[in-house]
Amino acid sequence: MKKCLFCGNDFETLSEEHIIPNCVCGRIKSYNLLCETCNKTLGHDIDNALDGVYSHIINMFGIKRDRGESRPVKVKEVKTGTIYQYLYDGSYELANVNCDIEKMDNGGFTLKFRANPNDRERIKNEIGKQLATLKNELKNIGIDYKKEIKKLQIKIDQDWNNIVKNKYSDQPGMFTFRLQLGGKGVALAILKICYFFLKEVKPQIMIDDEEIINILKTKSDDVWNRCYVYSLDNNLFDIVPDEISHFIYIKGYEKDKKVIAYIQLFSLTPYICTLNNNYIGKDFAVSYGYNLLSQMPFIPVCNELESFNNLEEDIGYKKHYEEYWSRIKINVSRIRDLYHKIHPKSLWSKLQISVYRKLIEILGERITNSPRVLSYIDLIETANQQCEIKSSSATYDDETINDLANGIISFLISELNKKFNQEEH
Ligand SMILES: [Zn+2]
Repeated sequence: MKKCLFCGNDFETLSEEHIIPNCVCGRIKSYNLLCETCNKTLGHDIDNALDGVYSHIINMFGIKRDRGESRPVKVKEVKTGTIYQYLYDGSYELANVNCDIEKMDNGGFTLKFRANPNDRERIKNEIGKQLATLKNELKNIGIDYKKEIKKLQIKIDQDWNNIVKNKYSDQPGMFTFRLQLGGKGVALAILKICYFFLKEVKPQIMIDDEEIINILKTKSDDVWNRCYVYSLDNNLFDIVPDEISHFIYIKGYEKDKKVIAYIQLFSLTPYICTLNNNYIGKDFAVSYGYNLLSQMPFIPVCNELESFNNLEEDIGYKKHYEEYWSRIKINVSRIRDLYHKIHPKSLWSKLQISVYRKLIEILGERITNSPRVLSYIDLIETANQQCEIKSSSATYDDETINDLANGIISFLISELNKKFNQEEH
């Protein structure tokens, strides 16, 4: 029998619990903490407060959740002010229908639209709106704006396939967006993560269980005495090289009689939680780190807690952060760099993708996704450039793809033979 941490009842088995919630791409799980009912209730009451808080980071870098997708998020291009939206798969598109009106010499107008290819209906509506505002000017040159709207809308429907071929060529340089990091909901969710993590890895350590569970159950204002955040650097992803990670670091201090947790989500927001104000026990430290780019666990180093004295005053943490917004500026090429670190295959050429698919057909996914085979596929593009196999063509004929796939398979077989021969001698 196992005891549920939250309701205290005994159960045959406990449910799967994301210690760092799924909505913020947590990977660390436990089967020792909660019954199914409490898991559901807490997910709904506490974890959900984090849903949406980090959607910008999740979508921009295409970081996967175990289940469900995060909603599209809007970002603004710094120079032009154009609004784009990032989707869950890491792609971005124009968020709005953008219309520029140019006056012509004959009194007429040229309307230029920029929008994403799914926006046909919105463009048609926008034409209606724009021409309605110009109706007097159009009347002066003998154009009935209502008839003109109809005409243009029909033309858009008839010619849509050609229209969407006109790719908008301006490339955004720098995006800016705001993150809302504060609020009591977030503080409760962070406290829950730290508390559950310690209960999972060091259940024998004495902490203020009753008080913390009570705060989580009643969502009491006492959470402000337990959880702190401090302001974050708004160009953080420029400073932290090639790493977006979750990490938790918990220390017990014999001398100061405290158990303190330090946690960062997405390498972005540092929070501190007090888990015990009257700790009686030896010094200890436990930690967890997961790099979401390399998808590898690591052991974090935490200098923040090294010089612990009187945390709240020493580090100047903000206690109340009800309205805590942070504006982040990030270079589009930096987003792309980090994105490719998570999704190396996104850099492959069309030829490489075709060969990859062919190899999956022949060898199956498990073998094709082995580092050895992937490294050969990585080389295809370089080889392709050197011998110029139809490098200008967007699609490749079956023969080219088969040749390359067979080449990789032959190479693997000869490597295997070599290995067998070596083992025999
Ligand atoms: Zn329970």
